[in-house]
Parts: sequence; C-alpha cells; structure tokens
Amino acid sequence: MHEFKYKHGELYCENIKVRDLALRFETPLYVYSYHTLIDHYLKLKDAFRKIEPLICYSVKANSNLAILKALVDKGAGLDIVSGGELFRAQKVGCPVERIVYASVGKTDAEIKDAIRKKILFFNVESLPELRNIDRIAKKLGKKINVAIRINPDVEAKTHKYITTGKITNKFGIDLKSAHKILLLRDEFPNLVICGLHIHIGSQITESAPYIAAIAKVSAFVARLKKKGIILKYLNIGGGLGIIYNKETPQTAKKFADKVLPLLEKNNLEVILEPGRFIVGNAGILVARILYVKNTPKKKFYIVDAGMNDLIRPAIYGAYHNVIPLKEVKGGREKADVVGPICESGDFLAKERKLPRIKEGEYLAVMGSGAYGFSMSSNYNSRRRPAEVMVVKDKVYMIRSRDAYDDLVRHEKIPFALMGL
Ligand SMILES: *Cc1c(COP(=O)(O)O)cnc(C)c1O
Repeated sequence: MHEFKYKHGELYCENIKVRDLALRFETPLYVYSYHTLIDHYLKLKDAFRKIEPLICYSVKANSNLAILKALVDKGAGLDIVSGGELFRAQKVGCPVERIVYASVGKTDAEIKDAIRKKILFFNVESLPELRNIDRIAKKLGKKINVAIRINPDVEAKTHKYITTGKITNKFGIDLKSAHKILLLRDEFPNLVICGLHIHIGSQITESAPYIAAIAKVSAFVARLKKKGIILKYLNIGGGLGIIYNKETPQTAKKFADKVLPLLEKNNLEVILEPGRFIVGNAGILVARILYVKNTPKKKFYIVDAGMNDLIRPAIYGAYHNVIPLKEVKGGREKADVVGPICESGDFLAKERKLPRIKEGEYLAVMGSGAYGFSMSSNYNSRRRPAEVMVVKDKVYMIRSRDAYDDLVRHEKIPFALMGL
C-alpha cells in the first residue's frame, strides 16, 4: 500500500500533485509520503502487538533526519551501522535504550562513542570484535551489553549481494563458535552477553528463510538454557521484502502469524530491524525527460536522474516501476530509461514497455524510498537531489539540493603544488 496514485490523469502523493513539486523544487527530486511511511511502521507494530517487540528502524535504508524523527516520535528505535548513524540517531533525540548497533567493522572510536552514549547493545559479528569491545569497556570502566550476531547458514532466496546469512558471507558468527564463546563468557568480564541477533538478508519475500533461521536460533537458545545461560533478547533483524514489480511478499500480518509461535516459545524480548519494508514504497524519484533518443536498435529516454541518484538498478539489476506523472493513453513501446552519467550501467529501467512520453515530461521511479538517497553520491560531480516530504496537503523540504560549492567544500589545492 502506498499513497502515490493517479487522480484525473495526474500522479499525486497524498493530496499533492507531484508535477507541482517537480516544477517548484526541480528535478531529480525524491518525494516521500509521510502517511505511507508511518502506515508501514504501524502495520508491523500491530501485527506483532502480542509480544510488543522493539522495532528498530534500519537507518541505512533512508537516513534523512525527518524520516528518522517521524519514526522515533511514533515509538520506533533505530538500528545503526556506523558512528555517523549514531550521530543522526542522537540528532533526532532517539532514546539510547532504543538503539542497537551492528556492523562487521566497528572502529575503536565508534565503539567508545557508543559505549559512552549507553546504547542498548552492540550486535557483535566476530570473536576479535568481542575481545575488542571487552578491552575498550574495561578501559572505560563500564560493563557493556552485547548480542551475538549468529550466522545461521540459511539461504534467504534474494539477490546474492543482499543475502547475509550464508556461512560464506562475512556477517555474524557460526553457531558452533557462538556456543564456545558463550561457554567461555567469563573471559569477557566487562561484557554481558544478553542476546542473539540474526539478519539473513534483504528483500526477502517468503517466511521460510526466517522460520529456518529462527528455528535454528531457538534450538540454540534452548540448549544454552540447559547450561544455565539465560539470555534476554532475540533480535530477528530486518529484510522484509516489498513490491517492486510482480513480487508477492508476505504481509506484516502473515509474517507475524508465521513467526510469532516460534518467538513466543523462546520467551525472549524480541527486536525487529526493518528498513526497506518501512520506507521502500514511501518514496519516489522524480526525473525529467531531457531527450528521447531513437537509435537503429533502441529507444532511450534520457532523463536528468542517474545512477548517482539511485544506484539499485546498476548494482543489483533492481527493477523499479517507471511511470509518467501524466497518464498517457495509447500504444506502448520498448525503451530504456537512462541517466546522463558516463557509464553503460547508468540506467533506471531496461527494455520497458512504456507509453509514448514527450521530451520535457516527467517520470516517477517508484519504490525509491529505501536505499535510494542513502546510497546516492556526487559521481560525475552531480549535485545530490533535493528531498521533500508530503503530509496530506502540506509539503516540507527535508533536504535541499546540493549546491556546486558543496561539491568542493572539503577540497584544497596545496600551495606547494602551484608552479611545480
Ligand atoms: C540493512 C540491515 C537491516 C535492514 O534491512 P532491510 O532489508 O532494509 O529491512 C537490518 N539489520 C541489519 C543488521 C542490517 O544490516
């Protein structure tokens, strides 16, 4: 469900005509629907209300402060993966007891900072990291909560770049090693191993991989219990898939119905870390058609948004539905929608049957709310796009477009270089 719909032949976001936004803020432009965002969060919260989990929105999916603030105000926590994301979490006043921190490569400075700020816990991804957090905690004279990220070795059935729970992936600790660590937990006197964490991948449309992973971890929890090792938290990660094309992902309710019985048996406090599910369909990228180029073999819509604005098609071969802001009737033709960047990988859509759209018209790249702006860059010295949020009939600019000065703000020409 999302609030981007045609009314009288024009695409609207909630009560606002998207064309008006394109004219006012120019393109490329990210447009978010506040109510779609919150609705997805509440759907998940409602589906799991029986166990009242802590829902930690995954900041990396879309880390705009306004998005974070909107979710935190509704009671969400945040799942962070860097010191920069901790900085953002604090900027929006997220209570520290609702922040969890995963990443295979946390630096000493990041660990220190997160300890000082008293986040709920770290999701620890290796034995050397565990030792390091213990060492830093000792130095700071603190006792620190950590959860072990388990690599359950399950196939998430998604794109190979976004599967994270196979034993060949860099994430988490295998069950056998985790068992050893828990038996030797006295070797980490400055840590309290308070939970387990799994995050098996992203854009997962079925419940089977989750069930497999949760079942493995649940059996492990039971084994630990017999040895007198009692945990408090089970963090089942994120990864819930959404509709980009013809996927039929599980709904929040169906997902909850499937995994709740397993979770209830463990009797642990549950944490969820959804990113894409909450924000994916709450955003679109609006682009203007600069040229319609016909070659002997192909038709290209050359638009003013490129892979620097939305990289998912280029790196994952991801499908995004592309529609004109003004509904066009009549015949359809195959075409590629491409950006202005000097790379053949710079496309937003390939071999799509699209209606005949004129130069100067606008296109909406649907489902661009997650891993859109947050993965954007200044490649080709392009200014990153502006972002606006629509709340019913109100529009708020939540990030202005980069200025040219922003592109060179941190660069310096060494004096000694001149006249060499
Ligand atoms: C990226 C990530 C998530 C969110 O994944 P989605 O597919 O966007 O739900 C959750 N947990 C961890 C540890 C992650 O790295």
